[in-house]
Amino acid sequence: AYDVLIVGGGPAGAAAAVYAARKGIRTGVAAERFGGQVNDTLAIENFVSVMETEGPKFAAALESHVRAYDVDIMNLQRAAKLVPASEPGGLVTVELANGGTLRSRTVILSTGARWRTVNVPGEQEYRNKGVAYCPHCDGPLFKGKRVAVIGGGNSGVEAAIDLAGIVEHVSLLEYGEQLRADAVLVAKLKSLPNVRIHTNAQTTELTGDGNKLNGITYTDRVSGESRHVALEGVFVQIGLVPNTEWLKGTVELSKHGEIIVDAKGQTNLPGVLAAGDVTTVPYKQIIIATGDGAKAALSAFDYLIRTPAP
Ligand code: FAD
Repeated sequence: AYDVLIVGGGPAGAAAAVYAARKGIRTGVAAERFGGQVNDTLAIENFVSVMETEGPKFAAALESHVRAYDVDIMNLQRAAKLVPASEPGGLVTVELANGGTLRSRTVILSTGARWRTVNVPGEQEYRNKGVAYCPHCDGPLFKGKRVAVIGGGNSGVEAAIDLAGIVEHVSLLEYGEQLRADAVLVAKLKSLPNVRIHTNAQTTELTGDGNKLNGITYTDRVSGESRHVALEGVFVQIGLVPNTEWLKGTVELSKHGEIIVDAKGQTNLPGVLAAGDVTTVPYKQIIIATGDGAKAALSAFDYLIRTPAP
């Protein structure tokens, strides 16, 4: 059995592994894909002290940092079920999709999240070539250009307000009859001179020249007409889905499916902690996930030294 078993090998899981291993305790990481979302990222320019790097390079650096310590890395392993300890200080079990089981005195859940996609032609083809999901990350790449935001909920409207200060023009496309964001955000958005709001707009295609994105096509759901807007960037803001389907019914989740954690990364289950994009901690960013991973590992250590094994 492990002292600390980390499920998920993104920035949060990697940071937790380094912190746990440095305490000299038995540490394992089981991950479907080591590196996590960072593997799908082009440029990273906001991990402080690293001026600029590329996603796959950052992912490789995470893995080599973990491999510098005595950590069992179990890659390509998908966790399918969590079974809480039967008594305080007892072993928590993680069942894997391949039928294996892992046991540990503490478990850190760091299975991250995924952006909901619009699933229209061009979205995959032009991903990182004009199609983006994170305004904090990629907004500055579109300085002085024309962009669209898909989604009129809080995240879409916040993204449009944020981008309007950087880019030349923002078109906001909402499928429904009206924006779903908080009134104060909608009022702010409407006050901006370089934003145009299209409601009842169903995105049908993200167009490009074969190399990069050059526009968005949508159907006006009232008139039935198809329209095309020429632009250089599209931000898809229709939701970030936490990877917690496998935890339903065990760990306490928010209404958005995020694992509810306290300031120390503790969940409602003794010895079970969580970190990164999978949790209720706001602002999903690498630097935040790594900090939370470190925090969860220190919390796990704290639990281990205070809770005797039964
Ligand atoms: P993730 O990176 O999502 O890692 C989750 C880990 O859990 C992975 O190893 C995954 O394989 C594993 N996993 C999931 N389910 C299971 C399971 N059931 N069993 C076992 N393993 C599982 N942030 C920035 O700060 N700067 C940027 O420039 C930036 N750009 C981005 C660009 C894109 C395209 C995307 C998608 C995200 C970007 N982000 C950026 C956000 C950043 O990548 C995330 O905030 C960060 O990766 C979160 O780390 P995490 O460890 O919590 O989760």
